[in-house]
Amino acid sequence: MPNPARNPFAFEMDGQSIMEGVQQRLQAVRDRIETAAQAVGRDPAQITLIAVSKTFPVDAIRAAAAAGQRDFGESYVQEADAKIDATSDLSLIWHHIGPIQSNKTRSIAERCHWVHAVDRAKIAERLSMQRPAGLAPLQICLQVNVSGETTKSGVDPADVLALAAAVTDLPHLRLRGLMAIPAPTDDVAAQRRQFGVLRACLERLNAVGHGLDTLSMGMSDDLESAIAEGATMVRVGRAIFGTRDRPRAERVARE
Ligand SMILES: *Cc1c(COP(=O)(O)O)cnc(C)c1O
Repeated sequence: MPNPARNPFAFEMDGQSIMEGVQQRLQAVRDRIETAAQAVGRDPAQITLIAVSKTFPVDAIRAAAAAGQRDFGESYVQEADAKIDATSDLSLIWHHIGPIQSNKTRSIAERCHWVHAVDRAKIAERLSMQRPAGLAPLQICLQVNVSGETTKSGVDPADVLALAAAVTDLPHLRLRGLMAIPAPTDDVAAQRRQFGVLRACLERLNAVGHGLDTLSMGMSDDLESAIAEGATMVRVGRAIFGTRDRPRAERVARE
């Protein structure tokens, strides 16, 4: 029987079933990526799967890593730090995918390989300044607001060129591409329209000389639409690790 006191995660029955559950779902996600890529004539090897482990325990990360998963995404700095420490034997690739507060940039700059949600120059400047000189440049995606919702974070598509120019000038960052979190919808045409906005932004940047190769878009429920529109990185949490049941307010409060 699960012990809810010790294991707050619904899928954590015992060590064996965490391992099997994560590995089965991971394989199912890999199959979805392959099918979606083939449906539009793309090579699935062009698409990197980021396993979004935020709110899930280190055992779940280890289970995915044992099945060959290398790239992991986290949204909360303190949680990420603890997990990076706890898996330092595995040489994983860490992606900070969440919103970035300016007083939390140092740890991201020192410990992550990729940052996906840069949407203002001030954050980029801090990340570059705080990136240790001995490390490879921090790989950067600019978050673009593709839904037009005023509450969403992300730079307005009209302002992407200016932000890209600013980031390109920073010595310890390497601008790789764009990221978006569209307004959630079951309507595939609406999903594709929003991902298409991001793809068009990338094409505009490349037309003026940026050599960007990364479109970070697509999550558990819409990765097929994202791949059809050219995603090169999909960020998938629940479909690999199970239902996220901790309320968001509680996670934020721990930061
Ligand atoms: C949580 C999160 C994801 C993963 O979402 P799922 O619905 O669990 O697949 C992807 N991207 C970002 C930015 C996230 O915060």
